[in-house]
Amino acid sequence: MAEIVKKYKKGDLTIVWKPGVCIHSTVCWKAATGLPAVFNPFEKPWIKVDNATEEELMAQIKKCPSGALSFYVGEEGAGGDGSGEGDADGKKQ
Ligand code: SF4
Repeated sequence: MAEIVKKYKKGDLTIVWKPGVCIHSTVCWKAATGLPAVFNPFEKPWIKVDNATEEELMAQIKKCPSGALSFYVGEEGAGGDGSGEGDADGKKQ
């Protein structure tokens, strides 16, 4: 079965969302650990990119424990591979 992949753009930033990979850790949307103004699984779209800066979004996505959320900046494949490491600028952490 093909993996579902959704993308959300904000400027040069593209957020990649793979629902089949999410382990529902709640890290991204609980107030204590996440950005509830951006990530809300009870609303559509569930990612509201306008409610945070690109820096805030990237920092949050790096905390996703499953790799369901990842991102890249600019053209896909130009920097990182967008494979859940949040290493879109090509720099490994
Ligand atoms: S942080 Fe990642 S694994 Fe946790 S709920 Fe959000 S997308 Fe799913």
